[in-house]
Amino acid sequence: MNARPPAFQAAAEAPSVSTAKPFLDELFEDGVLIPSGVDGLYGRSGAFEEVIDRFETLVERFSKEDGAVKIHFPPAMPRVNMEKSGYLKSFPQLAGSVHSFMGNDMDHCRLIAAIAEGADWSEFQKPTDLVLTPAACYPLYPTVAAKGAVPAEGLLFDLKSYCFRHEPSKEPTRMQFFRMRENVCIGTAEQVTEFRERWLARGPELLRSLDLPCVLDVANDPFFGRGGKLMARNQRDQQLKFELLVPVNSVENPTACLSFNYHQDHFGTLWGMTREDGEKAHSACVGFGLERIALALFRQHGSDPATWPEAVRKVLWG
Ligand code: AMP
Ligand code: ZN
Repeated sequence: MNARPPAFQAAAEAPSVSTAKPFLDELFEDGVLIPSGVDGLYGRSGAFEEVIDRFETLVERFSKEDGAVKIHFPPAMPRVNMEKSGYLKSFPQLAGSVHSFMGNDMDHCRLIAAIAEGADWSEFQKPTDLVLTPAACYPLYPTVAAKGAVPAEGLLFDLKSYCFRHEPSKEPTRMQFFRMRENVCIGTAEQVTEFRERWLARGPELLRSLDLPCVLDVANDPFFGRGGKLMARNQRDQQLKFELLVPVNSVENPTACLSFNYHQDHFGTLWGMTREDGEKAHSACVGFGLERIALALFRQHGSDPATWPEAVRKVLWG
């Protein structure tokens, strides 16, 4: 992977049958990502991390201007909060929980024997109080609710977390562990929709300043099962989720690099986040998929950031 790949050349120039190497293999060969043996779990090169750092500085400029409070939660949250959040109702297929050995000496001997025999040893692992954070904003709501009424001017947060989703894939943009930077607004319906509008304008501007082609579209979350289809349709009909799509793996199936979600008063009601006037708080979040944005940049501009277009380098490195 050096310059702009064939996938992003004008359609007329593009070969009709792709002989290109899978993007993931190119990333491994170029040392941008380091394989672990498990799909969706990778090491990151220094250059990759630096691109993410620089991009986050751009986002943070806006968050600071807005007066957002910065909080970074660890990549795990209390199990009880995931249960209460409804995540296991909507996305059981994505959730991950933390288990640990809690037995005695006898159990330990049986554990070691099971591993030595290549047998299933999961019966020796018991659930801890922790689950893996599925989205950066999930740990926030119960902590806001615990602090009392949401002030009249609303609340703004700037969050970041490693997130886990069990969706192993050969597409490098679909990882099992990835980072989400999120800005979250909690307040009245007007305050949070205005917040989302502001980011719906900023998001495309930000990506275009990095010479990334992008398009906004209405979207839905991957709700599980038959019942989930109805929830997905409802979410689309009400335009509760938008995504900013960038061609990374292919032009035909661009990748969601940013999400803009309006939760109405769902989390306000669930967690008891109440405004000073006694009404349930509304909330909205804008999530930046940091690995996806970095991958979009590497895909668009090549494997060595030193050779990226001067204008792009200037935006990132000043
Ligand atoms: P979502 O909560 O699904 O809207 O996710 C927020 C953002 O995280 C998305 O816009 C993506 O950029 C990013 N994201 C979601 N799932 C993954 C994944 N499996 N791997 C990498 N990034 C992801
Ligand atoms: Zn969120």
